[in-house]
Amino acid sequence: EPPADLFSRIDTDAVVSPSEGILMTTVDSVINWGRKNSIWPMTFGLACCAIEMMAMSASRFDIARFGAEVFRGSPRQSDLMIIAGRVSNKMAPVIRQLYQQMPEPRWVISMGACATSTGVFSNYALIPVNQVIPVDVYVPGCPPRPEQLIYAIMMLQEKIQKQTGVVKDVLNLS
Ligand code: SF4
Repeated sequence: EPPADLFSRIDTDAVVSPSEGILMTTVDSVINWGRKNSIWPMTFGLACCAIEMMAMSASRFDIARFGAEVFRGSPRQSDLMIIAGRVSNKMAPVIRQLYQQMPEPRWVISMGACATSTGVFSNYALIPVNQVIPVDVYVPGCPPRPEQLIYAIMMLQEKIQKQTGVVKDVLNLS
């Protein structure tokens, strides 16, 4: 007989009857569960915050525990963009183009003070990332620690699990 908490970890909305080994849920929940446990970040960094992002993917912090260790070299294979560092006005159109090349659904984490608000530099050459692309989770700090970035990914996972209308979007129904 499977433990009841196994089902609650899979889907908080699931209706469970452990004694009969029955699990009832929605297709939306199953798709969300798959998506949130296979987040593929894009491989790029903009400044010093990227060093902490790299540390997050290494063995000490081990983001593989959350299914998000597969950093991809192409935006077309990525569904998470981590803005780790300063966004310059010159770089902004490039970031927007990379974002547009990512398939939907796609998500963005703004990592550190520079990405979110131009940070300690705060000059005419820089722009907050949310003026270029939409942001799902903001991580404070200069730099944020790898644990903070992991926490941001966990918050993103919660957001993904709550998404509705997923089947409609997959089947392209209006
Ligand atoms: Fe570097 Fe701090 Fe800016 Fe991150 S927030 S890119 S660590 S100066």
